[in-house]
Amino acid sequence: MKVSVLSGGVGGARFVRGLAAALVPADVTVVGNVGDDVEVLGVHVSPDLDSLLYALAGINDEARGWGRAGETWNALETVESLGGEAWFRLGDRDLGLHLVRTQALAQGEPLSQVTERLARALGIETRLLPATDDRVRTWIDTAAGAFPFQEWFVARGHRDDALGVRFEGADDARAAPGVLDAIGTADVILLAPSNPYVSIGPILAVAEIRAALASRQVPCVAVSPLIGGRAVKGPADRMLARLAGGTSPAHVAGCYRGLIDALVVDEADAGDLDGLEEVRPIVTRTLMTDEDARRRLAEAALGATPA
Ligand code: GDP
Ligand code: CA
Repeated sequence: MKVSVLSGGVGGARFVRGLAAALVPADVTVVGNVGDDVEVLGVHVSPDLDSLLYALAGINDEARGWGRAGETWNALETVESLGGEAWFRLGDRDLGLHLVRTQALAQGEPLSQVTERLARALGIETRLLPATDDRVRTWIDTAAGAFPFQEWFVARGHRDDALGVRFEGADDARAAPGVLDAIGTADVILLAPSNPYVSIGPILAVAEIRAALASRQVPCVAVSPLIGGRAVKGPADRMLARLAGGTSPAHVAGCYRGLIDALVVDEADAGDLDGLEEVRPIVTRTLMTDEDARRRLAEAALGATPA
């Protein structure tokens, strides 16, 4: 079975690990968000692709939830002591990857090729593609002004309510090489339990990708990132409440109108399934506490599709 999965960073990466465990890893293509990408201290950081790379290579920090295990912070401490820009947390090990990527991009290598090279070097068999090689940047509109995503999320700790989300550059962005082919030849398409607005949203803002999903010939199954109407981590619940008017499964499904056939929801949300219309609910436990839980959730999402 060939699977294409659209994914953000940490929540998506947990799920993608489950998929890679449930299937032949090489049959899984991950299409990762790049709307969060940021240039800081002269390096290009792709936080979501990096979360996916580290998780799939098994070198992610489980406890912190992001970045690499065994990380040290000497470079950032030096930056800080020299009065440099230190708001974006870059570990020493992490920096090594950013240096390699930044140099390759500066030499004209597309992000998709660099990502493939990094994945291969890390021994990853799952296929990992950025949604686009073009520059797409997420902006958040708030009462305090408009902020680039990382400034809103990291520097301001996403304390300002998001009144709107925009994707600079998305109108002209093309899908990265391999993305449309992977979606078009998949037996099932999945949307990871990632933030619908700022993780899956920037991927779907690439018109070719949205069109590929809208005209799919195979089932598309989304996994809700909410449990009991609350995000496991991050601002997804607040964003849904503010921008969609609620945090029920129907509100999550509403983010993907016309694009999904089923929604995997947590048992805690089983009593709140009104308004899903043509979207079939699949109720299961969705908290990915360990390897077993990740694989079971992946299997539930795959099982939701008629073989
Ligand atoms: P980011 O790009 O690093 O912010 O990560 P994602 O957008 O991919 O994932 C963030 C979302 O993952 C949040 O909305 C969380 O609620 C969700 N999430 C994290 N862990 C879990 C889990 O174990 N189960 C479910 N259902 N959602 C999760
Ligand atoms: Ca992200």
